[in-house]
Amino acid sequence: MKKLDEMREDDFLGAFQQEKRKETGFVAKPVAAKPLVAKALPPAPPPEDPQLVALRTENAGQKAALQRLEADVAQARAALDVARTTQERFDRERRLADKRAEDARDRVRELEMRLAAADKTALWADRGLTKAEVLRALALLANAQPQALLTAVMAVEPQPLAQLLNDRLALVCGAPTCEPAGDALLLVVPVERCELCGGSDLRAAYRAFAQAMGAARLPSVTFIGGSPAYRETLRALHRELNPGFALDAVGKKRPGESKRAQAARGLIVIWGGSEVDHDTTIHYRQSGDLVLSVSHRGLSGILPRLTAQLQKA
Ligand SMILES: [Zn+2]
Repeated sequence: MKKLDEMREDDFLGAFQQEKRKETGFVAKPVAAKPLVAKALPPAPPPEDPQLVALRTENAGQKAALQRLEADVAQARAALDVARTTQERFDRERRLADKRAEDARDRVRELEMRLAAADKTALWADRGLTKAEVLRALALLANAQPQALLTAVMAVEPQPLAQLLNDRLALVCGAPTCEPAGDALLLVVPVERCELCGGSDLRAAYRAFAQAMGAARLPSVTFIGGSPAYRETLRALHRELNPGFALDAVGKKRPGESKRAQAARGLIVIWGGSEVDHDTTIHYRQSGDLVLSVSHRGLSGILPRLTAQLQKA
């Protein structure tokens, strides 16, 4: 007998019938063997070349990458356009702002020039000079310090000219007793405008001041600022009359000035047209027993005022 796996369908059926016949004596109608027909499948495509497959895959990948790249480029281009537009707007705005700033600077400069000119005119008026006296004063300064005068007049701000007028110019009546110490330039004016005597006796004025100092029991007086010539004149008066208190007159800042300021006692006079730097003035303002500010420039202006204030204090 054939092995089971070697049997064909007919063999199998034949064997089955024989077995059945043996068991039952019944002979089954032989079943016509159904021929086994393989179902016709569509012809399989010829196997593809693996190299071609690989190439195709690679190509597809590259195409996708290219698309992504193109999208990126388009996006970058759009961003660049936006940036460029923004940049152009910024540039336009910056140019406008620059222009506006430049215009504003021009206007400020013009205003400053006008203001400075006005201030400089005010400097002469402040000193009570007539037009003729201004010309004489200019001539005196031009002769003595031409460069300093030119620099001061050309300066935009009035401060250098104010300083020059304060330091160098003394308005005097022409009396021999009204010649200030030092090298001040003497501009002769009517006696009532003499910055030393003002038409009265300078010595008498200092004597009255000294008496008021004594009455107020102030041990010393410190003058801060004023012109060098008038400070020197004060010192000379003080030496001559020799009252019982000390005098210090501070112009330019000296070494250890803030310590001196802290140690200062008695009367502190902040004298207008000060050439002393602000720091020093502040230190002196905070010291002493009594601080008085006077805006008058000349001795004839400040001495009677200080005397009056001391008598009130
Ligand atoms: Zn005088």
